[in-house]
Amino acid sequence: MTSGTISIDQERCKGCGLCPIVCPQHVIKIAEDQLNTKGYHPAQLIDPEHACTGCAICSLICPDVCITVFREPHRARMAAVPELSKEVI
Ligand code: SF4
Ligand code: SF4
Repeated sequence: MTSGTISIDQERCKGCGLCPIVCPQHVIKIAEDQLNTKGYHPAQLIDPEHACTGCAICSLICPDVCITVFREPHRARMAAVPELSKEVI
């Protein structure tokens, strides 16, 4: 299992509401109190520090390709492959 986070391109988002529906961790919501320059309420990540698993379902469902997913390998996997934990120069 991985932990992760996402970045949502607020200006591309049309607030369609699909990503909050499919997120199994329930960490995306539509920001009803915000508007982007196109007049849509954009999606936003809530609890960005903890709950996202990096599963990428939200990214796959988004019709406007607004969501980028970042994954962090589990510590056990990193320990098993020492090269992963070394800093790349
Ligand atoms: S990557 Fe998965 S857990 Fe993270 S916000 Fe998207 S759907 Fe939710
Ligand atoms: S699926 Fe994409 S366009 Fe729809 S609310 Fe989520 S980020 Fe915005």
